[in-house]
This record gives sequence, structure tokens and C-alpha cells, in this order.
Amino acid sequence: MVVAAVSSGLVLAAAGAQIVWPILIETVPAIAVVVLVYLAELISKIDRQSLTLFMQSVTLRRTDNLMRKVVDKSFNGVLTIGENGEIETVNAAARSMFGLTEEGIVGTNVAELVPELSANKNAIGSILATGQHEVTGLRTDGTKFLAELSVNDLEDEEHSRFVAIVRDISEQKRYEEELRHQALNDSLTGLPNRTLLMNRIEHALNVALREGKPVALLLIDLDRFKEINDTLGHHVGDMLLKDVAERLSAPLRKTDTIARLGGDEFSVLLPAVSNNEMALEVGERTVVQLQEPFNVEGMLLEVGASIGVAVFPDHAKTAAELLKCSDVAMYVAKAGQKSVVLYDQEQDKNSVRNLALTGELRQAITEDHLDLFVQPKVDLAGNRVCAAEALLRWQHTAHGFIPPDEFVMQAELTGLIEPLTRWALIRALGGIAAWHQKGLDLAIAVNLSSRNLMERDLPQLVLELVQAHRIEPDRLTLEITESAIMLDPETALEVLKELDDLGFRLSIDDFGTGYSSLGYLKTLPVDELKIDKSFVLPMCESASDLMIVRSTVDLAHNLGLKVVAEGIESQAHVDKLTELGCDVGQGFFISRPIPLDQFDEWIKETDWPPRRLPVDTPNFVANSA
Ligand code: C2E
Ligand code: CA
Ligand code: CA
Repeated sequence: MVVAAVSSGLVLAAAGAQIVWPILIETVPAIAVVVLVYLAELISKIDRQSLTLFMQSVTLRRTDNLMRKVVDKSFNGVLTIGENGEIETVNAAARSMFGLTEEGIVGTNVAELVPELSANKNAIGSILATGQHEVTGLRTDGTKFLAELSVNDLEDEEHSRFVAIVRDISEQKRYEEELRHQALNDSLTGLPNRTLLMNRIEHALNVALREGKPVALLLIDLDRFKEINDTLGHHVGDMLLKDVAERLSAPLRKTDTIARLGGDEFSVLLPAVSNNEMALEVGERTVVQLQEPFNVEGMLLEVGASIGVAVFPDHAKTAAELLKCSDVAMYVAKAGQKSVVLYDQEQDKNSVRNLALTGELRQAITEDHLDLFVQPKVDLAGNRVCAAEALLRWQHTAHGFIPPDEFVMQAELTGLIEPLTRWALIRALGGIAAWHQKGLDLAIAVNLSSRNLMERDLPQLVLELVQAHRIEPDRLTLEITESAIMLDPETALEVLKELDDLGFRLSIDDFGTGYSSLGYLKTLPVDELKIDKSFVLPMCESASDLMIVRSTVDLAHNLGLKVVAEGIESQAHVDKLTELGCDVGQGFFISRPIPLDQFDEWIKETDWPPRRLPVDTPNFVANSA
């Protein structure tokens, strides 16, 4: 059975083989091909992956190198720091910043380079938390520099470490300091400027409020600086200012501030004075100090000073007020006989308004918003109009009419008097040029202020103006008050002499109200005395005023001068003055001041006929009058 089964099995197998074998023969190559293709596919896949991986690693390595190079070439110092502050790597910039060598790094703790980074994590942590930080860098040679430091955490699973970026900011700080210095100091003398002075005053006032000590501010204006600067040049002027700055600084205490406010104006801040007298005393000492001549390039130059003193809390409550009060006091010193003046509220009425007016007046001059009025003068012997006085008018858009004495005084205090006088002169000369063309034989008088008499180039300016208008100098009278001459008699006399030499007529205005001696009067090159209206107005009722007027007329005539009376308000005035022999009269009775352009109308209607030019006078257009 078994045999039969085996043999039948073999038979079957043989039969099977007979069938399968050809099939196998046919299919194996195909399978082999499939396997081969599969294997090839597999190999290529593996290859591509490894290629990509390989490429990626190359790229990474390249990027890594690039990053290293970037870090190494960076202008900022880059340090990696271990957990305990040990330096692991430094780039080239950090090496040169700290003066490190490659070997020197090993074992160096970051705290040796940046002492603020004491070697514990907390210190670094605190810098971490604050972002950028200004620190002191310590070079290996012991020198220091200012650095900006920022620290980042590089913590991973295994270690914690930091990367620190350091920038040397010494140069930048120096530059910033330079800018700050320029913004707060005067470039010529190096002294604090107005801005810094104001800061210091504010600080001093805060301290004073706590400690209850007065604070004094001195405002110093040099007396003859402009003259020196104009005649000897800016170079000498600058050297002088430097010397003044030095001399002013020498005796002061460290806590005091001396500042230059501009031009020849200086200021001294005394943050803790005992009282007002003490402040005045410092002012007096300063004046004495500045009286000693200055040796500039071998020349001995003399400058005086006028000083205004204001004290907190007596005079002012704020820094700006204190400066303003010292300014007011300084101008009082300039205008008067004293070199040092303590602020007094009485001197300062209207000054807030005055300050605002200054800017507006400047604008009114440049934009031609002023008016020139003229008031006729009559030759009392011939009863004819012979001249007119030019008087300024300012109709302010907000304040209305502002009296000329008020804004002229303000112009004197602020240096606006020069352009103001020039404006009046030009208008007045334009006026008489037109009158002459119409055949009117009239002269004109223009008022000069005390400051005008300090301007040495005034005579030349006036000459140029009359020449430009083709007017003979003797047609222009310049009215000057006695007090204006007394302010600086030496300079005034020189200016007056020159004006006289050029042929202009000079008149002493408000005569009798000043304090000049009659002896002095003889030395002045004047042509005319103008009796003040305060004597003329009451002369018909008051015997003493009549006597003054009579004596003045006689005195003037004895000195060979003409006399003008102002303030004629009635026919009685005219009669009396004519009887006394007064030459010329002016006043509301004849005419109030009228706008220059209405003068022609007035001339046509008045009972006082004007003097006329002979018909053959040059420029005279006969039929136009
Ligand atoms: P002042 O030079 O003494 O001018 C005469 C002043 O007396 C003028 O006042 C005039 O209007 C006034 N007045 C004339 N006649 C009479 C009269 O009969 N009765 C009365 N009560 N007053 C009379 P005003 O125009 O107000 O000028 C005042 C001062 O302003 C002038 O005094 C002068 O010091 C100054 N001022 C005017 N214009 C100028 C100018 O262009 N330059 C300068 N530096 N000062 C000027
Ligand atoms: Ca006058
Ligand atoms: Ca007068």
C-alpha cells in the first residue's frame, strides 16, 4: 500500500515536473528581472537619501563656517560664556577690544573683563533681564572703556551657557558728550550758556525751597565792548570776551555758575547767598575786577560793566522771572549813574508788556507799521512856519496808541533805537525833500536818544542819508536832551562835534529839566536851546516860570544860540514869547502834531504862512506848491 502510494506519488511528481518545469523555465527570468529591478530601485532610493543627507551636512557645515566667519568678522565683540562665567569662545573683535590672546582666554572668567558681570548666574541673569546694559570693559593691560553689553541665554538640555555681545561705545559717548557740551555751553568761552544757566537756576531754586537760603542772579553787561569790537575787530573782541570770562570765573566758588548769555552779556548765579547786601557786594567786587585794563595782544583795553542783581525769593519766584528781574535792574544800572543795581519793582512797571512790545516794535520797524507825525515850528519874529519837528507814532493793533516816550525808551533798552532812529530820519528827510520840491523853505528836527549818542558811526550815517535825499545838512536839526549827553559825556561830545563839523544843527531839548552846568553848556557845539514845555505852559500865570523862560532866552542869546519854546497853547504864549525875543515857537496853539502826509493840507489852511524858497532854487518845481 505504502509502496503503491509512494510509486503513485513519484508518478504524480514526475508528471507534475513535466508540467511545471517548462513553466519555471519561462517565469524565473521574469521574476529575476522583477527582483533585480526592485533591488536597483531600493539601492537608488537609499543612495538618493544619503546623498541628500550628505548634501545637507555639507550645507550645514558651510553655513556653520559662514556663521563662524560672520561672528569672527563682526565689529561687535561676541563671547560665549559657560555657566560659571568661564569664557569659551571669543571672536576677533572681542579679542582686540579686551586685548586678549588666543591662549589668554583659557580659564579667563568673564568677570575679569567686565567686572559688573560677577561670576555668578544671577549677575548675568540681571543683565539678561534688562536687555542692553552700559558697563565698563577692562582691558588686560588695565585700561578701561565704556561698553554696551547684551547677553542671551543659550540653554539646551545638557548645558546652560550665554552669548554676550559687546560694543565699545567710548567714541560714541565722547561724541554725545561733545554734542551735549555744544548744546549747553558757549563755544567761544566754554562757559555755560543760557539753557544750562536756566537749568542751574531751576535746580538752585528747588534746593533753596528746601533749605530756605536766598538765590541771587547777577546780570553783567560790558560797557564799552561794542566800541572795541567795532574799532579793533572781532578777533580782538573775541579775545577780550575770553579774558573777561576767565577773570569772572577766577574768584567764584565751585558752586557758583558763571554763564555767557550772548554778545557781551554774562551772568553769575550764586546759589546760596546770605542776603541781598551780600549779592550786591559780589556785584561791586565784580565791577572792580573788570575795571582793571585787559591786555589783549599788547593793547591795554578798558571795559567797565553794568550789573543788575535780583534775588529769590524777594524779587522772583521762578528762574525766568529771576533772569528778567536781573535784566531790568541791569538796564537801570546802564541808564543811570550806578554800576550795580538791585532789582526794584518800581523800576519795572509795565515790563511784562514791554517785553512783548519789543518783538512787536522790531516788526513794526521792519514792516513799516510806524507813522511819522510832524509838528510845525513858527519863526516868531516873522510869524511864518519855518520848520517842523518829526515825532514818531505807533498805533498798535491790540494796545491802540502807544506814547512815543514809552516805546522809544523800550527801544533804547533793547538796542532797537538804532533802526528806529534811522527809520525816523529817512521819513523826515523824505518829508523835507518833498517840501523843497514844492518850494517850501522848511527845515526839520529829528529827536536823538541817549543811545544814539554812543554810536560813533551815527554822523556818517546821517550824512549819507541827507546826501541821498540831496538836502543841505543845515536843514536838519538834531534834538538831544541834556541827560542823554550826561550818560557818557566823552563819547557824546565826540559824536556831537562830528555832527557839528558836518554842518548839522544841534538843539538841546527839554532845556532846564536836566542837570548840566551852564559852564558845560559853553563847551557843547550846539546851535539852539529848546525851553521845556513845563516852563512855557505855566509862564503866563507863574512869575517864577516866566523868569526862567526870560533868563533862558537871554542866556541863549548871550551864548550866540537860538531859542525855541515848546508848549505854546495860546495867543498869550505867542505874545509873551515874542516880547521876550524868543526866536521860534511850537505848540498845540499853532498845530498839534499831524501825519506827515497831511502837512500839505495843513499848510494850505493855516494862518501861519510857510517860508518859501526863491523860485530859482534847484529841485524847486514852482507850480507844485
Ligand atoms: P519831545 O521831544 O519833548 O517832543 C515834544 C512833545 O511835546 C511831543 O510829545 C509833543 O506832542 C508835545 N507837545 C508839543 N506841543 C505841545 C503843547 O502845546 N502842549 C503839550 N502839552 N504838549 C505839546 P510826543 O509827540 O508825545 O513826544 C513825546 C516824546 O517822545 C518827545 O518829547 C521825544 O522825547 C520822544 N520822541 C518822539 N519821537 C521821537 C523820535 O523820533 N526819536 C526819539 N528819540 N524820541 C522821540
Ligand atoms: Ca524834541
Ligand atoms: Ca521837548
